[in-house]
Amino acid sequence: MYGTGLAKGLMLTLRHFVESYVDDIRYGFRKYHHSTDNFAIRQGTKTKGVITVQYPDEKVAVPERFRFIPFLIVEDEDHPTRSGKDWCTSCGICAKVCPPQCIWIVRGNDPVSGRPVPEPEAFFIDIDICMNCGYCAEYCPFDAIKMDHDYELASYDRTTHHIHDKERLSKPNSYWRSIAPTRAYEEMLARGAWEHKDAAKEARRGAASARTSAPKPAAQPAPAQQTADKPSPEAAPAATAPTAEGAAPWTEDEAKREERRRKALGRKARRAAKRGG
Ligand code: SF4
Ligand code: SF4
Repeated sequence: MYGTGLAKGLMLTLRHFVESYVDDIRYGFRKYHHSTDNFAIRQGTKTKGVITVQYPDEKVAVPERFRFIPFLIVEDEDHPTRSGKDWCTSCGICAKVCPPQCIWIVRGNDPVSGRPVPEPEAFFIDIDICMNCGYCAEYCPFDAIKMDHDYELASYDRTTHHIHDKERLSKPNSYWRSIAPTRAYEEMLARGAWEHKDAAKEARRGAASARTSAPKPAAQPAPAQQTADKPSPEAAPAATAPTAEGAAPWTEDEAKREERRRKALGRKARRAAKRGG
């Protein structure tokens, strides 16, 4: 019948209205008391009726995938070798894919050689133009730029406060892990380490060079002596233990790959020597 939908809608509104007061009476108005953490109760699934969030005293928790203005990840202060280092390599991909073109990056240069280095000297985002699409974070190949949860960015001076510079944008990796633990974990699995890709690579390189530069035994002991002598306590760990500080363990696959590479280089050198001779 015409008008029944309207009546149902009004009934629902009335029900919510009444339930709000019934709920208040049931909790004895304790729901609104600020001295206890009642917000969770009021926001809970058992709560009925209409609730009012007393913002800014109370804030509704945002979901993990919530995205607001991007920020740049820097290594945590307690990292043994890369504390405070930018994850960004200033490759410029984020600036290229940003639809409203609100990212501006200045690539860093080595002060001595003048050659470009893989870290930004300056990084700016105009937050008035950013539309929070998240493309920059999606396309960054180094997981260096992420979408933040901090939405309270209003200020009285948009000309100076709304251009976020590198200092303002930089936040430690631990912050990202605290606001988006599931995503951070998935990224770690894809990357293979909690650290930046380069840190893990450097650690592997350090372990490889330590293995190749490790002094070889002067002479093979005679078979009889070999069985009688116990292996030196220093010898065994030198071959397997990760040598770089904070290094990811050297996996068996990587060790085999490195061994194959060394053998191939040896064969190549022998062939070159033969041709030369
Ligand atoms: S944030 Fe990522 S995509 Fe953007 S310049 Fe840095 S490394 Fe490249
Ligand atoms: S979130 Fe979107 S608009 Fe904002 S800086 Fe990233 S790519 Fe640009």
